[in-house]
This record gives sequence, structure tokens and C-alpha cells, in this order.
Amino acid sequence: MSDSSTKVINLAERRAQRERQAANVPIPGWLVWLHCPKCETTEYTEVLMSEGRDHKCGTLVEEKEVPIDVRAEYTISLRNLETLDNLLESQTPSRLLGRFLKTSRDSLEQLRAAEEEYQRRMLIIAGTDEVTPYPEEWTPETAGMEVEVIQPPGLMLTEARQPQFHLSPPDQTA
Ligand SMILES: [Zn+2]
Repeated sequence: MSDSSTKVINLAERRAQRERQAANVPIPGWLVWLHCPKCETTEYTEVLMSEGRDHKCGTLVEEKEVPIDVRAEYTISLRNLETLDNLLESQTPSRLLGRFLKTSRDSLEQLRAAEEEYQRRMLIIAGTDEVTPYPEEWTPETAGMEVEVIQPPGLMLTEARQPQFHLSPPDQTA
């Protein structure tokens, strides 16, 4: 009996997931920021671990779970990718970017890889192969999201992608 009720819940959950996809509504998820106080490294992961985890150096890492709208993060990352591709396709990206990015093509490729990786993680968080982005007219501002625009090259960074908002600042008093 408990088996069949579990099955019903799973089916309902799956249907709800399909409907969320179709309806273009937020897809709730979590991004986890990890900070090793010993190595002073900061990285994000999609893997939630309630019992805590050690860094490779053996130190217990500080973790902060950040609630996100996966669709919004994905949509913004796609737009970043478009910005980067436009720059890469232009004949003179280094002139466009001026002195800010020394080896601009390499830098753009690196930024591009970071966006693709972020999108890959978003799919994992959403538990799906595909996330439909918000429509063209959707903007982070109208969705009430704070986004920092990095100029150049004009990339949008959501709060979720800025660890300084989530991790405690380095201890100054110690
Ligand atoms: Zn460490």
C-alpha cells in the first residue's frame, strides 16, 4: 500500500515537473558555495550534502546553500554565451575589448567554457536534459533579480554566482 502511494506521488511530481517546464515558470533549485578556510579556495557545486564535507586538505569546508531559479540562471547564462559568441565571431575582439582583456580571445574562450559548465550544472540541478529559457522579453530586472554587469565584455552575473554575497567574509578579528 505504501508502495503504490509512493508511485502516485512520483507520477504527480513528474507531471508537475513537465508542467513547470511547459509553463515557463521558475524552476526552484539550490546552488552550493564551498569555501575552504585553510586553502582559501571557493567553488560551487550542485551536490547538496547535509552532513558537511571535507576539502581535499582535510579541513571541514564552509558551505552555503543558495536558493535559485534554475530557469533564470540558465536564461541569463545563455545570453552571456550569445554575448561571448558575438565577440568571438567579430574580427577584432581585442580592439573591441581594449586593454582590459590582454589575450582577449583566450579569455573569451575561458569565459565561454565557464558559461557552458554553469549551464551543465543547471541541468543537473533541474534533473533534466533540457531547460527552456524564459522568452526574449524576460529580463532579470523585471523578475526582481539583482544582476551585476561585468564590462567588458558585458556579462551578467547573478547574485547566486557571486560567492561574496553568500560566504562569510574573511575573519578580520582573529
Ligand atoms: Zn583546503
